Amino acid sequence: MSEDIKSITLEELTEELRQMGEPAFRGKQIFSWLHRGVRSFEEMSNISKPLRERLAELYYIGVPRAVRKQVSKSDGTVKYLWELRDGNCIETVLMQYRHGNTVCISSQVGCRMGCAFCASTIGGKVRDLRPSELLDQVIFSQLDSGLPVSNIVLMGIGEPMDNLDNVLRFLELVNHPQGLNIGMRHISLSTCGVVPGIRRLAESELQLTLSVSLHAPDNETRSRLMPVNRAYDVEALFAACHGYFQKTGRRISFEYAMIDGVNDSDSQADLIVQKLRGMPGHVNLIPLNNVAESALKPSRRVSAFQKRLERQGVTATVRRSLGGDIDASCGQLRRKAMENGKKGFQL
Ligand code: SAH
Repeated sequence: MSEDIKSITLEELTEELRQMGEPAFRGKQIFSWLHRGVRSFEEMSNISKPLRERLAELYYIGVPRAVRKQVSKSDGTVKYLWELRDGNCIETVLMQYRHGNTVCISSQVGCRMGCAFCASTIGGKVRDLRPSELLDQVIFSQLDSGLPVSNIVLMGIGEPMDNLDNVLRFLELVNHPQGLNIGMRHISLSTCGVVPGIRRLAESELQLTLSVSLHAPDNETRSRLMPVNRAYDVEALFAACHGYFQKTGRRISFEYAMIDGVNDSDSQADLIVQKLRGMPGHVNLIPLNNVAESALKPSRRVSAFQKRLERQGVTATVRRSLGGDIDASCGQLRRKAMENGKKGFQL
């Protein structure tokens, strides 16, 4: 059984090579080839043939295959559906902002969190992504599109805190100066509110941005929308968030998808203000994306809600929607691909 070489850190690779009698710099050479997206050991032109052959016996280089690529006509957003080594598919979205190109990556094949408004969770979780499979989404979206990536958001399919070991290893890989060298301050991680994960991330003291998918500040509504709230309720969640801020000094961003008649009342806005007291928070209001399988509808009170938060001193922005013409949100492309044939969806 050959091993996944791209999930290995530079230190581990250097140690493996040392045991094969290779000098320390060899690790750096191979690591940087891998992170530039080579498809085979053959391409590593400054590595001797015998070593390349030995490596090919021991390791594989995973390369995702783009089975679908959609480019938005209106804003240039690119969406990829990648097929992995085992035939599973995941999505990656590349968005062009003034502050740089941002890639939104998936952390799992499917998701087991069960949020009522989200297309990614409909078929459940199939498996966790490996560190290399997280990294490859960045490497190959950049290579294929020709757009240099400066920011990463872990907001695609899956719950990063449900795959935290692999996510932390990915962060180490993507941040490495010999690799893509993307700074922690250019990376955001979004969670539905897995409290032990938030605490573990706080301990790591990484300077990334934590996003928490709040979607409701009261237990009744939140438990209805997000089953995770039955395990870690609003009080536990905010205790973890306050702890996170105290430990890292980093402002948390709260995602809030506005749903008609469900979470868009004045009293809910006031409750958010109350919960955020004592820490600088930023609320990101998201116009709900329609999901074919769900009866929930977008709110018509987004701007009133925003104003009510702002008036009480809470920073609130409305997320600009990109890629609306290409199913660029929340597991919609993978869903369509899965359903293709069965229900006659066409991509
Ligand atoms: N599992 C993580 C990250 C992936 S979801 C999390 O829950 O945060 C990325 C974001 O999209 C989350 O805030 C999620 O709640 C939101 N989202 C999912 N479906 C949506 C929809 N139909 N409309 C708007 N936002 C949605």
